[in-house]
Amino acid sequence: EADLAMYRAKQMGRDQYSFYNDELAIANRRKREIETFCSSDSYLSAIRLVYQPIYCLMSNRLLGFEALLRIHDDKLGTISPLEFVPIIEDMAKISDVGLHVAKLAAHFCASVNLDTSNQLFVNVNVSPKQLKNNELLNWLESQNVISRSLLQLEITESAMMENQADIIPILECISDAGYHLLIDDFGTGYSSLARLKALPLNGLKIDRSFVNDLSSEAGLQIVKAICAIAKALNLTIVAEGVENTDQQSTLIDLHVDKVQGYLFSKPLECKDATELVNTQQYRQIA
Ligand code: C2E
Ligand code: MG
Ligand code: MG
Ligand code: MG
Repeated sequence: EADLAMYRAKQMGRDQYSFYNDELAIANRRKREIETFCSSDSYLSAIRLVYQPIYCLMSNRLLGFEALLRIHDDKLGTISPLEFVPIIEDMAKISDVGLHVAKLAAHFCASVNLDTSNQLFVNVNVSPKQLKNNELLNWLESQNVISRSLLQLEITESAMMENQADIIPILECISDAGYHLLIDDFGTGYSSLARLKALPLNGLKIDRSFVNDLSSEAGLQIVKAICAIAKALNLTIVAEGVENTDQQSTLIDLHVDKVQGYLFSKPLECKDATELVNTQQYRQIA
């Protein structure tokens, strides 16, 4: 019996080992395929953005959007930004991609604000690695597609903290130029209050994992603490990943400013986002 158990354990170990090896081989092959795809001259044209609405929590008014990267290739299928961004960073092409994303987002922003009574912002996600050269900064300082306060940059807390020394001077320039900066996925990195205070921030986004955990007492206390930090630093608060009305009402109690999540809307194709803006406008007039 003991032998049998031993045999089973060994067998299982071997199966898991080869399973792991298969997984690894598949992941490596896909990574190489994506690298090949990104080495072509035309990969930038496969990039498009979807736009997830961000609402005022108190009034339900549409305030703006977050632009999210989407890539589709007939052979590779859909490539998630979570998969794509690290690869493109390693290929040292993140600043090309980031600039392209910023330009697309700026044009979308200009188009939804053609009616000058609109002041809708568009947030773009920025990788600190794309700030290692001045391409984005130069473009930001010279573009006249949109008013600067309407293009906001999101940088994840973890990436910000890892690259803090290098990027603070660049963030200062971006902020001085009139752009707003938000710290993304807040609570998942390790920033001290002192380090946060040293950054030219306008807002903070509470990570989806904390919103998801609002129904537990500990989760609620954590979000309360995040809100207290935001208030202390005079930052506006966006809660991301809001999926149900329980979360919504808790966030109202906590005086969170803005919300984003499937409860309100999934990320929208450009034309659907534009249509939302138009119907929203109609509602306000009516
Ligand atoms: P993020 O900036 O935190 O973006 C929010 C992510 O949560 C998006 O995933 C969005 O589709 C998803 N989401 C929004 N609401 C809900 C919800 O209610 N429930 C759930 N389960 N998910 C929700 P996505 O589009 O897959 O993007 C993943 C991450 O990739 C982003 O996280 C961002 O860090 C990064 N990313 C996206 N676009 C870009 C880009 O243009 N440049 C860079 N550097 N990173 C990007
Ligand atoms: Mg983001
Ligand atoms: Mg986020
Ligand atoms: Mg997140």
